[in-house]
Amino acid sequence: MSATIFDKIIAKEIPADIVYEDELSLAFKDINPQAPFHVLIIPKRRIATINDIQAEDREVVGHLYVVAARLAQQYGFADDGYRVVMNCNRDGGQTVYHLHLHLLAGLTMGWPPFANQKPKSSGVKHE
Ligand code: 5GP
Repeated sequence: MSATIFDKIIAKEIPADIVYEDELSLAFKDINPQAPFHVLIIPKRRIATINDIQAEDREVVGHLYVVAARLAQQYGFADDGYRVVMNCNRDGGQTVYHLHLHLLAGLTMGWPPFANQKPKSSGVKHE
């Protein structure tokens, strides 16, 4: 799959409100926030989807969670709580094909996320 808008953000070719950066990752505010605090944490090396994660990506994928926890602490959400979400493909709601962790905080979120929708019949049974 080809490059996405996130590659341009990493290269600083387009602006973003960057809240954290290191050699492996970049975190910036979502342009269309779904919570009072909504940050995307991305690996600098593009992995398109969760399906494309390989064993050797363990460190960088784990690192995204380390950054999420640090940011939640830094911005004062650690104790009250927050949500981290990684969407995969169409049904998961993925729109940008460069792996990213959403860090959402600042309100009490509902669960489950699809409470008002009928499940599609995938044939998968959860015992
Ligand atoms: P997804 O739907 O793939 O899980 O999440 C993609 C996220 O990227 C969306 O929440 C969307 O608002 C955000 N996004 C898309 N384009 C841009 C952009 O150019 N800048 C920023 N900061 N966020 C973006």
